[in-house]
Amino acid sequence: QVVINKIAAGEIIVAPVHALKELIENAVDAGSTSLEIVVKDGGLKLLQITDNGHGINLEDMPILCERFTTSKLKSFEDLNAIGTYGFRGEALASISHIAHLTITTKTSDSSCAYRAVYSDGKLVPPKPGQSADPKPVAGRQGTQITVEDLFYNTPSRRRAFRSPGEEYSKILDVVGRYAVHCSGVAFSCKKFGDADSGICTTATASVIDRIRRIHGSSVANELLEFTTSSKHLGFEATGMISNANYHVKKTTLLLFINHRSVESSAIKKGLENVYATYLPKGGHPFIYLSLEIEPHRVDVNIHPTKREVNFLHEDEIVAKIVETVEEKLAAVDT
Ligand code: ADP
Ligand code: MG
Repeated sequence: QVVINKIAAGEIIVAPVHALKELIENAVDAGSTSLEIVVKDGGLKLLQITDNGHGINLEDMPILCERFTTSKLKSFEDLNAIGTYGFRGEALASISHIAHLTITTKTSDSSCAYRAVYSDGKLVPPKPGQSADPKPVAGRQGTQITVEDLFYNTPSRRRAFRSPGEEYSKILDVVGRYAVHCSGVAFSCKKFGDADSGICTTATASVIDRIRRIHGSSVANELLEFTTSSKHLGFEATGMISNANYHVKKTTLLLFINHRSVESSAIKKGLENVYATYLPKGGHPFIYLSLEIEPHRVDVNIHPTKREVNFLHEDEIVAKIVETVEEKLAAVDT
């Protein structure tokens, strides 16, 4: 059973960034306004994320890392929404199978924080001979998840990571996406022991300021705001798109559907086509797009490694978004 779990976990989490993405979403789901991330060796040695969210109740700690443990499906109807949020209650379980996992957490009504160590889905003693029970410790409200030695028990996978720098770039990419999207949440992401590296945004920054912080002024100064929606198609879209004065070698598309960072080749292609008539040959746009679609209409292939989405009325929705973008670009052009 342990081996099967280990293999399954290794398919869900192929690289450190996949674990981190799940941890970011958990922290945001917990209502946090501050997320601090520390990374060592591209996340292979250490991934630590500290949030100030609602924390985890002591009585939930023993089962937290069992498969399918989730506090996020409250009713039968929620099961219909499962597509939006993808696989449920598997992230912490998976991580506990392929890394050393320590969780420290405090809720507002607890007088102290509790710390617990997990392995293969279960509480384990921090050191041989110690108790496996969550241990009371000092701490502030929120949750700190510490993931150490990722893939320690699958050495071949571990060896496949040649460059921690490359893994760190993927991490900064994902943190940057959520930092742009999550308004009211301050993000920081640093390499261990290097206070100046990485990403730092504040909770009060506007979306343009967040884009400026992460992608620079050259794009932030050339943004157009847009929104579009359709009751009949069951969606709302808002976003920021670069105008015809801005172009880069590769399209940057920060796409969120129902607040999850996802990919959609239909949307990407549609957008690239509109821009092709406005940008010089070989030039590509910057696009931040947040879509809210009625959950039952979305089908996410929610493998954290590849979040390609399909949704009902895809062609019509893409057409509507593309049309709005086209209008925006044309309006500036004349
Ligand atoms: P899921 O997010 O699908 O519910 P996870 O394995 O990612 O499953 O997390 C399991 C549960 O642990 C969550 O449902 C939530 O109750 C709790 N949890 C995880 N991370 C946090 C956090 N940062 N703050 C508060 N609760 C958390
Ligand atoms: Mg989760």
